[in-house]
Amino acid sequence: MRAHNFSAGPCTLPVSVLEEAQAEFVDFHGAGASLIEMSHRGPQYLAVHDEALALARSVAQAPDEFEVLFVGGGATMQFGMIPMNLLHPGEKAGIALTGSWSKKAYSDGVHHGALYSAFDGGPDYTATPTTDQLQIEDDTKYLHVCSNETIGGIRFPTLPDLGVPLVVDMSSEYLARPIPWDIVDVVFGGVQKNLGPAGMAIVYVRKSVIERAPANLASALRYQVYANKNSMYNTPPVFTIWMTGKVLKWIESQGGTVGLERAAAAKADAVYGAIDESDGFFRSPVATADRSHTNVVFRLPTGELEQQFLAEAVELGMVGLEGHFSVGGLRASMYAALPEESVWTLVDHMTSFKERS
Ligand code: PMP
Repeated sequence: MRAHNFSAGPCTLPVSVLEEAQAEFVDFHGAGASLIEMSHRGPQYLAVHDEALALARSVAQAPDEFEVLFVGGGATMQFGMIPMNLLHPGEKAGIALTGSWSKKAYSDGVHHGALYSAFDGGPDYTATPTTDQLQIEDDTKYLHVCSNETIGGIRFPTLPDLGVPLVVDMSSEYLARPIPWDIVDVVFGGVQKNLGPAGMAIVYVRKSVIERAPANLASALRYQVYANKNSMYNTPPVFTIWMTGKVLKWIESQGGTVGLERAAAAKADAVYGAIDESDGFFRSPVATADRSHTNVVFRLPTGELEQQFLAEAVELGMVGLEGHFSVGGLRASMYAALPEESVWTLVDHMTSFKERS
């Protein structure tokens, strides 16, 4: 019996992928060893690696001007790698501060390049900026935005097109919205939500941007090295890449980014519907137009009711509904592989809990 898994990441993955991996795990296609026990330079792993890279390109519909890179270390490492690779001394970039993850990108990134705040939605971070709220300085190399703030539960309904190339952290809605390739230089995200187990980021980066990266970077921190070496300069996170390839194939079968976007919107509508129809019993703290499709943050009238709601949810087989420890409250993270049935289980619980309270 699988739980209704609302965890924010790592999170639920398609059962078909887990079962396929289980069947292949101990003896990979008759090789007498698991794939994770073999050389990453051997033919079995190379085929898996190349297929996963090709799927990461095709599912995202990334054009030829972009490299597709598998980089160990998660999305957090990109907070440093991006300014390292994109900014030379004296160059600057803006960042829209919309919540925890863009703030972290800023505090890490300033060690490696001149980042400035182009918008600060604090202290509450309940809305993303409109284009005219973004203050872009002259000679800005890029604007960093977090398309969906996983903790605060806000999302850019449209990515800002201001004539400045975007660097977009899409971790918590990765490949669940089409990427506007014309206006981005870098798209990145950890894979451990929509795409696979933890352990790496997929980074889409414009070729012309990494060609001009500063020379003084260690190999593992240089995008061009990943591009030249097929994301295999050093030992890649083989298990994560293997599983991510399977999930990408599953995403393809779900209609790719357009299919995932539609499914995410439907799940989000169901839960926001339950909030909006509760006469204020459930409250969403975020601006309606900027509501996240994947991380629905909500509150109940009191902390006691929130605890009771969570305890009953666990009884009903739902896990991961507590809000991030930094903000409290509740959060339903509904990534690509979360079945609709889990969403309806949550909505039923919300409706019945409100009626009984
Ligand atoms: N950005 C966003 C939007 C995230 O949600 C997260 C993780 N929850 C991160 C960055 C950091 O990712 P990682 O843990 O892979 O470093």
